[in-house]
Amino acid sequence: MRATGLYIGGQWTAGAGEFTTTDPATDEQLAVCADASAADVDNAVAAAREALPRWAATPATERAAMLWRLAELIEADAEKLAELETRDQGQPLGVARAVSVTGAAEHFRYFAGWATKLDGAVRSVSFPDTLQFDRRVPVGVCALIAPWNFPLMIMAWKLAPALACGNTTVLKPAEQTPLTTVRLVELCAEAGFPAGVVNLVTGGPETGKALVRHPGVDKVSFTGSTSVGQDIVAASAADLKRVTLELGGKTPTIIGRDADIDAAVAGTVAGGLLNSGQVCAAYARMYVDHARQDEFTSKLASAVSGLRLGAGLHPDTDLGPLVSSEHRNRVDGFVRGAVAEGAELVAGGSPAEGPGHFYRPTVFGSVRDSMAIAREEVFGPVLAVLDYDDEDELLARVNDSPYGLAASVWSNDLRTAHRLADGIRAGAVFVNMPCIPDAAAPWGGFRSSGWGREMGPYAIDAYTEIKGIWMHHG
Ligand code: NAD
Repeated sequence: MRATGLYIGGQWTAGAGEFTTTDPATDEQLAVCADASAADVDNAVAAAREALPRWAATPATERAAMLWRLAELIEADAEKLAELETRDQGQPLGVARAVSVTGAAEHFRYFAGWATKLDGAVRSVSFPDTLQFDRRVPVGVCALIAPWNFPLMIMAWKLAPALACGNTTVLKPAEQTPLTTVRLVELCAEAGFPAGVVNLVTGGPETGKALVRHPGVDKVSFTGSTSVGQDIVAASAADLKRVTLELGGKTPTIIGRDADIDAAVAGTVAGGLLNSGQVCAAYARMYVDHARQDEFTSKLASAVSGLRLGAGLHPDTDLGPLVSSEHRNRVDGFVRGAVAEGAELVAGGSPAEGPGHFYRPTVFGSVRDSMAIAREEVFGPVLAVLDYDDEDELLARVNDSPYGLAASVWSNDLRTAHRLADGIRAGAVFVNMPCIPDAAAPWGGFRSSGWGREMGPYAIDAYTEIKGIWMHHG
């Protein structure tokens, strides 16, 4: 059992209260963490405000060097970070190493490069004898609120561009999984970020609410559920804070008549069951050409039945536990509901024994568009197979969703792949591959999947304001 604190203005301090985190594979308590009150949040925001002018004026080359150094420190600490992520969140150690830790380091390195490229432009205005130019300036104090599924990597998606652009920050990891963010903040101090540039408040929804409502916060970047995203929009309306939202999804996968079914099955397992399906863009509803449906469903059922459930630290584990017993019960509720609605259970369908929160990978066939299992985000190892005959109707069915985060297409016909990729309303379409975010490419959703984009040059828009300057010399 370790004890963790809050990090405010360069000092570690105790919070007003405490909460514990547990290992989802064993239910053992892992750490006692500081529970930040509204007063703690106040202090963290004040520290970030005080540090803002100096950090915003720090030469871009120095900001870049610190971000690069942070990436190196993450890599040097990779084994420790990966083990901590696995114990706190449950993901297999291989996923923690290759996705979470590597993904975090790559983000800091990628945005280190952007710090020196925040260019503006000179505009051809019509007013005589006038030089007009515009430049990017930091938004200010950014509240960065993360979910529990990829705690370290998703915090890096936010922190790296925020710091590159000269903002100061208050980090709020999810209460289920704060430990790698605590370690990340220790590494930020080691990398040389000045006091007040990176602050940490741990706690649950009350801590998050205090942060979102705080008048000293200029921007909220949130990744989490769509319903909390809606609360955040309402709470930030009072002072019209800048808001970026990365929310839920129900990713459709289209498997065409000419698709390589073995590749589509392997891609569905990789894209649908990574981190036990606790992925916002998890491939969740598969629309399979009627002529290939039986082949696809039986191969998918046999592939998922061969997956090994276990603690993430065990080297043979393919699928770790779900994050909590509440979440496992929620996933099981969706499975029971699908059976009651008449979907055909072809694999899995129940929790697994053990002290942890394991759930068997589950495949449903004969799913209809109207069923909850085809429409709502399960966020667990549950795959729904639907079929289609008519490609014209298909796009309307796929797009009939409140979400639009990601989509996938499996086809060996270039025209089909282009036509479907063009017609699907989603922030990212992956053709013949699993879903793989990259620091260089945009990430974000249409409709209820969010507002704005993270990653790539688009993240720079999210963490800067544009300022136009007019100089009359007539
Ligand atoms: P959640 O919305 O319950 O919590 C996310 C974070 O918000 C936590 O830190 C939580 O403490 C905080 N919070 C809760 N209520 C709050 C409030 N009223 N005000 C401010 N902060 C508040 O989400 P979760 O259960 O941790 O994560 C799962 C969800 O996240 C899924 O819906 C998933 O799709 C989504 N997600 C989206 C992406 C993406 O990139 N689009 C990535 C990962 C996860």
